Amino acid sequence: MTTAVYLRISEDRLGEGLGVERQREDARALAERRGWTVREFVDNDISATNGKLRPGYAALMAAVKSGEVERIVVFHTSRLWRNRRERADGIELLREARVSVVPVKGPELDMTTAYGRGMAGMIGEFDTMEVEVKSERQRREAQQRAEQGRPAGGRRAFGYTADGMALVEAEAAALRDAYQRLLGGRSLSGIAQDLNAAGFITTAGGPWRHNAVRLMMGNLRNAGIRTHRGREVTQGLWPAIVSEAAVRAAIAMLSEPKRRTNHVGSARRWLGTRLYRCGRTDCGALVVSTYREKYADGRVRRVYRCPSCGLSRLADPADKWVRRLVADRLGREDLADLLVSGPDEAALADLRAQSMALRERRTSAVKLWARQVLDDDELEMAKREIAEELAAIEAKLVEAGRENALAPLLASEDPVADWKKLEGRIDEEQAVVRALTTVWLLPPPPGRREFDSSTVHPDWKPANPVR
Ligand SMILES: [Zn+2]
Repeated sequence: MTTAVYLRISEDRLGEGLGVERQREDARALAERRGWTVREFVDNDISATNGKLRPGYAALMAAVKSGEVERIVVFHTSRLWRNRRERADGIELLREARVSVVPVKGPELDMTTAYGRGMAGMIGEFDTMEVEVKSERQRREAQQRAEQGRPAGGRRAFGYTADGMALVEAEAAALRDAYQRLLGGRSLSGIAQDLNAAGFITTAGGPWRHNAVRLMMGNLRNAGIRTHRGREVTQGLWPAIVSEAAVRAAIAMLSEPKRRTNHVGSARRWLGTRLYRCGRTDCGALVVSTYREKYADGRVRRVYRCPSCGLSRLADPADKWVRRLVADRLGREDLADLLVSGPDEAALADLRAQSMALRERRTSAVKLWARQVLDDDELEMAKREIAEELAAIEAKLVEAGRENALAPLLASEDPVADWKKLEGRIDEEQAVVRALTTVWLLPPPPGRREFDSSTVHPDWKPANPVR
């Protein structure tokens, strides 16, 4: 029979660290005063209630069951049991084995008596209550911080100072650049490479990889929006690095299936694939690329095919024509006037406000439902209407962000030459085309065999789709 000393390293009930040395010293001093020889069981966990396994505690209870333990010395009963279930099971086990608990802080608990077990239960209830009160308070404070627009805390965010309230200029510039490239069609791995090559590391201290880039760029914090538990709460008190439109466009792009993993191997090979639309009346589907043996000479030619109605057009002349149309457009004198202004900030702010108001409406609808002012059907209808309006607004925000694909070209001395240099980098070419126009492939006139450029019809977008 021996005296067990049980030590558990974790935060104490007031959230202050309680070092194992302090627990060990006090527990051993107590055992020495009483003339007990001790055997030590130690666990190290950092949260008091998360249900993690405790090998030290398990070994202690096994020793208790096999009758090796006479008493357990512990700094405080809250070290021994972390929640009600553990406590109930533990008290029962100690009663059967006739083992008492001797805390450094608090009265000795003789588990062979009803009084001892009752005290263990009550002291334990108060321990649990303190833990729960503390976690309630923390949850409330976190919610409040979010509503006040204060930063989330935790590890420093790339581009921001440790308190989250100011910019680290060099990083913020790199991040802005990264958004521009992402929206211009650069892959996540490519952006990770760019950041590494420029000497930036993550705030965790490692090299950039595509997943870290994805997490960073999909965060609305970069647009100055405070989220909490996955919901947008309010405007943050910190400065934005990029526009909300840019972050939303990035999120939309990152959630496209082809972006799910690395970009390599899934890049598109043809300009028009899922970019041009079928121009047959009432169709409008995005076309796909396919090969078809068509000509007497036996040569196989690539065609774009509408998956919905089957319309099929020769692909190479269409691509050549679209590239030329875009070059002409970029070469126009009025290009700067048309496009260089970028997204209209006031219009964006207005869209933002509408989006926030809709989210609030959704929250209040749920509250009304909880108070039984709305029934299930009414709630569903309200949520559906709000979701539709939100989708429309977010589509506009995303569209505004896509304009960014044009920024590098518009800033260039010679946009036409730079556009031609993009040839073959399909993602980037598609982003530019998409920002400028919708391309419709019309059915060919009857009897015509050669390519007729009038059947590739660009529908130019207004200079600023947000206005
Ligand atoms: Zn069609």
